Amino acid sequence: MYYISTRNKNERVSGAQAVVQGIASDGGLYVPEEIPSVTKEEIASLKSMEYYERAAFIIGKFLPELCGELEEWCKKAYSRFDGDPAPLVKADGRYFLELWHGPTHAFKDMALTLLPYLMTGSKKVLNRTDKTLILVATSGDTGKAALEGFKDVEGTACTVFYPDGGVSKLQKLQMTTQRGNNVFVSAVKGNFDDAQTAVKKVFADKGVKDKLAEKGYNLSSANSINWGRLVPQIAYYFSAYADLADSGEIKDGEKVVFTVPTGNFGNILAAYYAMKMGLPIKRLVCASNCNNVLTDFFESGTYDLKREFHKTISPSMDILISSNFERLIFETSGRNDKLTKERMEKLTADGKYDVTKAELKKITESFAAYSADDETTKETIADFFDESGYILDPHSAVAFDATLRFEEDTGEEKVITVCTASPYKFVGSVLEAIGESVPQDENAALEKLEEETALPLPDSLKELPSLKIRFGGCVEKDAIEQTVLDSITAE
Ligand SMILES: *Cc1c(COP(=O)(O)O)cnc(C)c1O
Repeated sequence: MYYISTRNKNERVSGAQAVVQGIASDGGLYVPEEIPSVTKEEIASLKSMEYYERAAFIIGKFLPELCGELEEWCKKAYSRFDGDPAPLVKADGRYFLELWHGPTHAFKDMALTLLPYLMTGSKKVLNRTDKTLILVATSGDTGKAALEGFKDVEGTACTVFYPDGGVSKLQKLQMTTQRGNNVFVSAVKGNFDDAQTAVKKVFADKGVKDKLAEKGYNLSSANSINWGRLVPQIAYYFSAYADLADSGEIKDGEKVVFTVPTGNFGNILAAYYAMKMGLPIKRLVCASNCNNVLTDFFESGTYDLKREFHKTISPSMDILISSNFERLIFETSGRNDKLTKERMEKLTADGKYDVTKAELKKITESFAAYSADDETTKETIADFFDESGYILDPHSAVAFDATLRFEEDTGEEKVITVCTASPYKFVGSVLEAIGESVPQDENAALEKLEEETALPLPDSLKELPSLKIRFGGCVEKDAIEQTVLDSITAE
């Protein structure tokens, strides 16, 4: 199976190459040349499988050259989770797909525990012996998950930039205390879009690449622009469906709806590919916080960046430039690479672009969109906790609010809310939402939430406030290139 760039279909590489490279040389994103299909029988056969087997089955459709070892890698990666990696939970008659039982307690673990295996495996297939520098811009959760995934993995290094003041206290602590001999972390002055744009510039900078090559490194990405990051995310939509069918909540073949809390559009795009492969999905609900570029797009057909950037209580969704939207635009334009390139260039130059009415119609057949501000998000957390005893983190609550509104608008019932973070990761906002005071001391806050909710507090979060800070620095965005180069000589 081959992969092509969204900006130039003639740039055609193998899956292994797409994973190792991360992004196409023309700045486009890799997509599979053909989307593999999954039959009804295959979906039914998932029911009796463990999660790692389901994941290996789905991922194998996209990366056949890695099939030999895939199941073993999935088994190893998902054994780092606390129990079922992607349990489908029913509370008060509602469905929740919990994706936060991994080592860093956010859904990024679903892909980033596995990506190191895909990366090293791909390099082996390509007979490459150079080292790989994983360069990450994070709105909070990808950074930590990438660091945990790649720490001390031979032949790799991992360098992470997060927006100064743009992440939660706990997210920051998770990254600045990271252990491992091949890792580096720094804050960047600015917001996530600044950090992401600066990192993308490094990827496009031949000078930096040459200097890295002199030191024996190639550059790759753990952000969801990398297909290797996206493909493990497709698997849990199939898994959730298999669980629902297995428990008799739906009939085989019955269509369902997923609501996804969205930032960079990676998670929901994985659901879109699952739908294209044949998973019975009726619609996808795109849930945003008040950084609602996408909600406006689904309304108007205009992607317009010219707006204020808001810091919210769901910081991992504080994003205006949703990188993966490029893949959707490519698909829904009839895979028009020229047009996609033009639009992306227009976005950089003018801060906006439009799609045609016909395209928008096609898109809204597959997607609905809602946004919730912080006030509504907190009310959603409090109301549902009162009603059911189930506690949502702010990101998942943005999605649950969208689920409720979508159900009201359409009468749909089989709607699954995708939950992306443990409530402990955003302990301050969650305590506040349920009307509790927030202790200054981080440990006291965690313990208080445990007392209030009876949700078990993970050990790895409990020990966090007592760990030594290893990476306290903050750089200007213009200094990122030099910092990247220094980060590997520091070893
Ligand atoms: C990354 C993240 C999101 C957004 O996911 P995208 O794939 O970027 O759309 C939502 N919630 C949490 C907790 C996250 O870490």
